[in-house]
Amino acid sequence: MFGLEWWQYVLITLIGGNTFFLGIGGFIHYYHYHIKRDENESWKMQPNRFLSDRLSRHAALLGTFNMNTAAGTFGFLGWGVLEQGWGQIYYDFSDYGYAWAALSIFLAFFFIEACAYYMHAASHSPWLYKKIHKVHHYYSTPTYFTISAMHPLEWVAHASYIVAPAFLFPMHWSLYLFVMMTTFFYGFWDHSGIKLNINLPFHGTNKFHDDHHKYFHVNYGFLTPYFDRIHDTVRREGHHYTEDTFTGGKGRVNKEMQAQNAIGPWVDYSTPFKQKDDGKKQDSSAKNPVLES
Ligand SMILES: [Zn+2]
Ligand SMILES: [Zn+2]
Repeated sequence: MFGLEWWQYVLITLIGGNTFFLGIGGFIHYYHYHIKRDENESWKMQPNRFLSDRLSRHAALLGTFNMNTAAGTFGFLGWGVLEQGWGQIYYDFSDYGYAWAALSIFLAFFFIEACAYYMHAASHSPWLYKKIHKVHHYYSTPTYFTISAMHPLEWVAHASYIVAPAFLFPMHWSLYLFVMMTTFFYGFWDHSGIKLNINLPFHGTNKFHDDHHKYFHVNYGFLTPYFDRIHDTVRREGHHYTEDTFTGGKGRVNKEMQAQNAIGPWVDYSTPFKQKDDGKKQDSSAKNPVLES
């Protein structure tokens, strides 16, 4: 399409990827975690809890390494798709019409979310967790770099289902780019550790995945909490969660807070932080030290 060689595509995606990842993302991270560190009670999801210097470095190095392997691979695949005709990307909306265009966005998001949820839930089974997924859970108070700081095998699996829609069914190039950018954007805010004052569409507050890192075997969804609701893996009020409670999202019932065998209600992730602050509503997990892991 553009008449470029494969290595030129790889170079472009490496430069573009790092501009986003280290440039824009790195700046937002630096602004909060270094310049505004003393005021972290106002912006941090888990106030006054920070990764150790060693873990912060570990996340930055592993996360940057993985992100670059993905950017390079996407560049090569981009060459295949745009120059060699691999995959099913198309360039003219009239080829398939607007109804299909709308359906293809839904299918792409649905496919990515289903893969993300079921792979993630499976990786919280004891064997896979201890062998592979535990690396991503070194970071109990995640920072932006932890978005891609995980076992390289797991990273390959995640990158594969994000690439897959371009090969599975026809997608307009701009819609596929939109899906990829949205996926990255959600992952960014979910791992940043920074309170986002608005809800993300179909997602709720960005505390959902931060809680996953804090409470471990709960809240497996990525773009939405819907699969967690279907499979009852949303974190529940009054339940106790640790890295060793492999109980499929249920944790352990905290008998001091709930009558024996009682099931607590799902934690509310649908009210934006700002609205919560304005209404002086308290986050029940923040005032209940029993729940802290
Ligand atoms: Zn996990
Ligand atoms: Zn995570």
